Amino acid sequence: MPASPVIASDFDSGNIEVVDASNPIDVQLKMKKETFTEYDQKQHMQWFHFSVSNCKGTPLCLKIVNADEASYAQGYHGYWAFVSTDQKKWDRTKTSFDGKVIQIELTPEADKIWVAYFPPYSYDMHKELVTFANSSSECEHSVIGQSCQNRAMDLLKVGSGELKLWVIARQHPGESMAEWFMDGFIHELLSDSATATALRSKATLYLVPNMNPDGSVMGHLRTNAVGANLNREWCDTPEKNYKAPTQERSPEVLCTLKKMEETGVDFFMDVHGDEELPCNFLAGEFGLHSWGDKKTYIYQKYVQLAVEKTKPYFQTTYNYGNQLQGKGIKALGGATVSEKFDCCGTTLEMPYKNLQYPVQAEWNHFDCKELGKRFIDVMDSTCDLLKEKLPETYPKFEPWASRPYEVPKFDEPAYVGSHLIKNKSRSNVSE
Ligand SMILES: [Zn+2]
Repeated sequence: MPASPVIASDFDSGNIEVVDASNPIDVQLKMKKETFTEYDQKQHMQWFHFSVSNCKGTPLCLKIVNADEASYAQGYHGYWAFVSTDQKKWDRTKTSFDGKVIQIELTPEADKIWVAYFPPYSYDMHKELVTFANSSSECEHSVIGQSCQNRAMDLLKVGSGELKLWVIARQHPGESMAEWFMDGFIHELLSDSATATALRSKATLYLVPNMNPDGSVMGHLRTNAVGANLNREWCDTPEKNYKAPTQERSPEVLCTLKKMEETGVDFFMDVHGDEELPCNFLAGEFGLHSWGDKKTYIYQKYVQLAVEKTKPYFQTTYNYGNQLQGKGIKALGGATVSEKFDCCGTTLEMPYKNLQYPVQAEWNHFDCKELGKRFIDVMDSTCDLLKEKLPETYPKFEPWASRPYEVPKFDEPAYVGSHLIKNKSRSNVSE
């Protein structure tokens, strides 16, 4: 009888509970629920991250038996989990979901391995990123507030141009791809490349690489330490008799908005991950009454720039669809900022799954970094767009940039191995 695996999650962003680990081919696990979220009237759950020890060479079947109770359970269809022996290199491993239980199959190549929903970006890595940025003469670092558990809310200010661009990430802490994106974005922005230099002269960029440090450390998908879904905390929701942001529940949003009021905002992007769609996409705030032709024009051009300048990462067919006017959630970061500062507020979404659109390709944390790096070029051209004189009459907008746009049904990935594309060159990705 092979040894029983030893499962642990007592580390940064760890999340799992052991039900029964006595049989290596039937290890029963449960994800832990997050603190109750008043706005959503539920306890969120989706993220998992744990280590498995003492099973080198032993075939394992790890079963997450409460997967059907997760916030976006359907998102586990067509998804493969990540496994690592050193917490740096992460590979997908065979995973299935039958609508109830996630089954992760692997034979560990080391005495200890880590399994995660997506490659984690730890709080230590966050601090290293801030230290790196702070050491650059091009960057000014400041702490604009504190989280519920008194972690620093780090803001990086880069550039000296007239336009004020804000990019924030990881309001939803289990969307670790958002901070991988920021890592690539910040490294490139602080480089001496011609595009980065041009961007820094056209704009002043305000960057919050992690909006939710507490939730990140606690292994949450969706909420901060006291259960707030930060992307519903940007303004009051009178229909729910809900006041936000507050110092008690959402100090992370409160201090960010306060700083935005000081600086002004000409363009905003909020970086996220999406559990279901196997592609990268952007969302505008079509549901707002104030989202008119001018914002649609800028949004459409911005998405087109993302497609052109990040080939083949981006596409326009699959997204959240565009709501009818008046139907949007105003308490979203993108919506509140768009309305309050009369600017184009956008939300970037990256997948947990391998890419299916516009190409079938592997998708992992290195790709998120690479996408972040390429967005420097997108942002640079966006500055030119924001400075351009707007047309007298707008051209007819694309269907995906008009309301109401309904998204066609997408096909789930058909995995044929650990990677869909094995020979993809990664030589231009540093780490
Ligand atoms: Zn999100």
